[in-house]
Amino acid sequence: MAKRQIDIVAEKMHLNENIKKYLKKVERALIVSIPIMMDDGSLKVFEGYRVHHSTIRGPGKGGIRFSPNVNLDEVKALATWMTWKNSLLNLPLGGAKGGVCVDPTKLSRKELEKLTRRYTAEIINVIGPDIDIPAPDINTNSQIMAWMMDVYSMQKGRSVPGVVTGKPIEIGGSVGRESATGMGLFYIIDALCKKENWSLKSSRVVIQGFGNVGGNIARILYEHGVKVIAISDVSGGLYCKDGLDIENLLQWRDNGGFLNEYDNNNYEFISNEDLLTIQCDILIPAAIENQINISNAEDIDCKAIVEGANGPTTPEADQILRKRKIIVVPDILANAGGVCVSYFEYIQDIHSYFWKLDRIHQELKNILVNTFNDVYLLSKKEKVTLRIAAYMIAINRLARAIELRGIFP
Ligand code: GLU
Repeated sequence: MAKRQIDIVAEKMHLNENIKKYLKKVERALIVSIPIMMDDGSLKVFEGYRVHHSTIRGPGKGGIRFSPNVNLDEVKALATWMTWKNSLLNLPLGGAKGGVCVDPTKLSRKELEKLTRRYTAEIINVIGPDIDIPAPDINTNSQIMAWMMDVYSMQKGRSVPGVVTGKPIEIGGSVGRESATGMGLFYIIDALCKKENWSLKSSRVVIQGFGNVGGNIARILYEHGVKVIAISDVSGGLYCKDGLDIENLLQWRDNGGFLNEYDNNNYEFISNEDLLTIQCDILIPAAIENQINISNAEDIDCKAIVEGANGPTTPEADQILRKRKIIVVPDILANAGGVCVSYFEYIQDIHSYFWKLDRIHQELKNILVNTFNDVYLLSKKEKVTLRIAAYMIAINRLARAIELRGIFP
């Protein structure tokens, strides 16, 4: 899918064939084995990955996910999307991604810590503040980043907070990082509504996913009085045409509850599949890849899709949505708030000088809204989708860097 997207955009922008060939390959991919002594005395060997798609514009940057579905191809695609995302925002960073094929819900805390530490030790030569800076992604969080930073620092013999972002604030993390992807989505949705002359306040929103991204954007919208009429987690979704009580659902989630166990007679339980085709104004897929595809694109019933997840819409679905005049704000723009505040965290660590939340929000909003406006303008000018316009900006910037640096040797 990531490669097909490059082909589509390359054709539109008449990209040099050599550059296209170059961009379709990742720079390096590391596969590691992670042997762990489990609590019951048995040994399990997990497989992990770290991929650098591009370090042309700066050190690699991108999250690490722990999930039973992780595989090398997925991590390569995710690393590629990070390159576009960072280039689109003009951050001096490349694109990377990592993952471990594991179901972390089946591990004890001790096992999870061992897994994280051993994985970090295995990839230690390909990460570092000037090489590649990991961050949280699906099923990873600030505690996991703290363990990663500790392993790296122990090996170097000094504290190196800049090796990862998304750390706890107490050890060099940034205020506002945890909710940054949600906050970014909000700025983007607000900017889209302004451009399209839609009222944000009276918009009805459906969200797939209730993790860091889905949960935070749901909370922020709810706090702004916007109705979230459906939301889902891995167990399925809840729907209420008058809007859900997000505050209560977040409490339920934080106490370990799944949505299919939530008791409220006014809410209808729906599957993750059905949730995507509910009639609404804005649909936010904020879970995993390939959710909006050829099998359901004709049934999507909204004015705009704002991609909280990475790669939730397939290129085939994109074409159908375009014909149906459904606006799609692409992942590399819509969910870029996370990596943007990761960048702020990284420079705060380097300078050992920490910003206030107001500054984080102001700078984040500035970068995202300006980028959104550039993408929107280009899409009108070139008569292309927002995704193609975003890719054109990102790939142009990268192609220029490749041309300037030349190809070694
Ligand atoms: N995992 C997030 C993403 O997909 C954040 C990456 C980062 O902060 O480096 O954009």
